[in-house]
Amino acid sequence: MIKGSCLCGGVQYEYDGELTELAVCHCEMCKRAQGTPFVTNSPIKFEGFRIVIGKDLLKAYFSSEKKQRVFCFNCGSPLYSQRIDLPEVLRLRVGTVTSGKIPPPDYQQYCESVSDWFVLSDDMPRYIQNKT
Ligand SMILES: [Zn+2]
Ligand SMILES: [Zn+2]
Repeated sequence: MIKGSCLCGGVQYEYDGELTELAVCHCEMCKRAQGTPFVTNSPIKFEGFRIVIGKDLLKAYFSSEKKQRVFCFNCGSPLYSQRIDLPEVLRLRVGTVTSGKIPPPDYQQYCESVSDWFVLSDDMPRYIQNKT
């Protein structure tokens, strides 16, 4: 069982299943949609997904004709995307998961759009919580 929530907690969801595939997307639209250099998402079955509370807080933005990006309109958290020609699959924004097992990412896509100011490097110092 996967559980998750938006930042304000107004939207909470559950998924009766496992996250079996994790994709990191560097495309320009995902960057703007998340406000970050990439998004990490996981395709899940719409069937096993339910909004526990906050259905009325969901808002959908169609970033292209066939793809909606669904977010909490109170706090702005991106929750998932869904193609209208593939409604049985949601692409869950993994950063909103609050409990359940999250496997490591399987692949990166749109690598031609990787932000050149953001370097994923093993040599980069890593800190727990804030550097200060
Ligand atoms: Zn919210
Ligand atoms: Zn993308």
